[in-house]
Amino acid sequence: MKRNLLDLAPAEFAGLKFQCSCGKEHSVEIRKILIESGCLKKLPQVIKELGGTRVFLIADENTFSVAGREARELLEQAGIPLHGKVFPGSPTLVPNEFVLGAVLAAMEPEDDFILAVGSGCLNDTAKLLSARTGVPYMIAATAPSMDGYASTVSPMILDGKKITKPAVYPMAILADTAILKDAPMTMLTAGLGDIIGKYTALADWRLSRDINGEYYCEEAVSLMERAVEKCAESAALLKSRDEEAVRYVTEALILSGVAMGLVGNSRPASGAEHHFAHYWEVDFLSRGEEHALHGNSVGAAAVVSASLYELAASELPQGFAPPDKQRILSALQAAGACISPKELGISRALFCESVLHAMEIRERFTILRFLAKKQLLSACATELTNRFYQG
Ligand SMILES: [Zn+2]
Ligand SMILES: [Zn+2]
Repeated sequence: MKRNLLDLAPAEFAGLKFQCSCGKEHSVEIRKILIESGCLKKLPQVIKELGGTRVFLIADENTFSVAGREARELLEQAGIPLHGKVFPGSPTLVPNEFVLGAVLAAMEPEDDFILAVGSGCLNDTAKLLSARTGVPYMIAATAPSMDGYASTVSPMILDGKKITKPAVYPMAILADTAILKDAPMTMLTAGLGDIIGKYTALADWRLSRDINGEYYCEEAVSLMERAVEKCAESAALLKSRDEEAVRYVTEALILSGVAMGLVGNSRPASGAEHHFAHYWEVDFLSRGEEHALHGNSVGAAAVVSASLYELAASELPQGFAPPDKQRILSALQAAGACISPKELGISRALFCESVLHAMEIRERFTILRFLAKKQLLSACATELTNRFYQG
C-alpha cells in the first residue's frame, strides 16, 4: 500500500513496509517506537508484547537513577524476572572491550531480552551484545543526544580506535520525554547538533545526485527535512528544557535512524560534517584525551561545511540550493550549542588538516570531494582556518 510518509507520526514507522517512489521497497524492522511523556510506565507491557520473559538490564549509575530503578520496579510489579549490570557513574563510560566483556559475563543463559537504559554508549553496547548473542534488545532512552537509537551499527572504541561494527536494530525504542528533558544540557544541545548537521548531510546527498547520479530518495529526504525544520524552529526552547522542543529533537533523532534504514545507507544522516566530527574524535582518542559529545562536534562541523558551500557558490551546479548557513547558525546559537571548532578545543593545525583530509575517512562524495576535484580545497582550508581562528 502506498503511504505518504509525511502523514505518519514517528511511532507509526514501527514495522512499516511500503513500495516507494524511489523504486525501492522500504521497511522498518523496529517493532515499537514510543515517544511520549510518561511512557516509561508502558515498559512491562512493551516487553510482554515482544515476548520477553526474563530481562537483562544494562545501565550506569546515572541512567539507573534517572530511569533504571523505576524500570526495575515496574518490571518487578508486573512479575517479569530481571537482573542487571549497573556500571559506575564515572568516569564516563566508553563502549570498549571492557564494557562489552562485562555485560557478556553478567548475562545469563536464561535471559531472553536485553533492556538498555541510557543513551549512546549503553545503546551501542547493548546493540552489539544483541547482535552477538541473538537475544533481542530494546532501549529506554535517557538523553536525546545522538541518532544511533534506531541504527543498525555500533560505533565502538576497540584497541583505542573508533570502529563501527555492524549490529542489529532494537526491537523497541522507548523515549519518555519527561525523563529526556532533564538530561544534561550538553546532551540536549548535542542532540540538536546531530540534527542540524542534516542540513549539510542532505545537501551533500543532493550534490552527489546532481553530479554523480547517485541514488536518492525524495521521501526520505522530505521526512528528514520536516523533522529538522521543527527542531530548528523550536531550538531556543531547549534552553528552558521545554518538553515539546525535546520531543521534536528526539523524534528527529529516531527518524534519522529510520531514514537510514529505509534507504539502506547513512546518506540521509551523514555527510562532510560527520567526516569532520569523526576526524576530530579520532585525533583526540589517539592522544588519550576526551573529546566533545558527537552531536556537539557535528553541529559545529555543519557550520564549517555550510561555509564550504558558500565558498564553492560559483562552482555549484545551476539551480543547486546550498544549505542555509544562517539557519544552521541561528538554530545552534538559540539553543546555546557549539558553533565553531575552536569552542570544541580543536587546534588551528588540526582544523586546517581536517579540511584537507576529513574526506579520506570514506569514499562518500561530499562538498569536500567536490572542492578537491575542482582543486579548490587547499585554498578553502586556508580561508576557513583564518576565519575560524582569527585573533
Ligand atoms: Zn524511497
Ligand atoms: Zn551523528
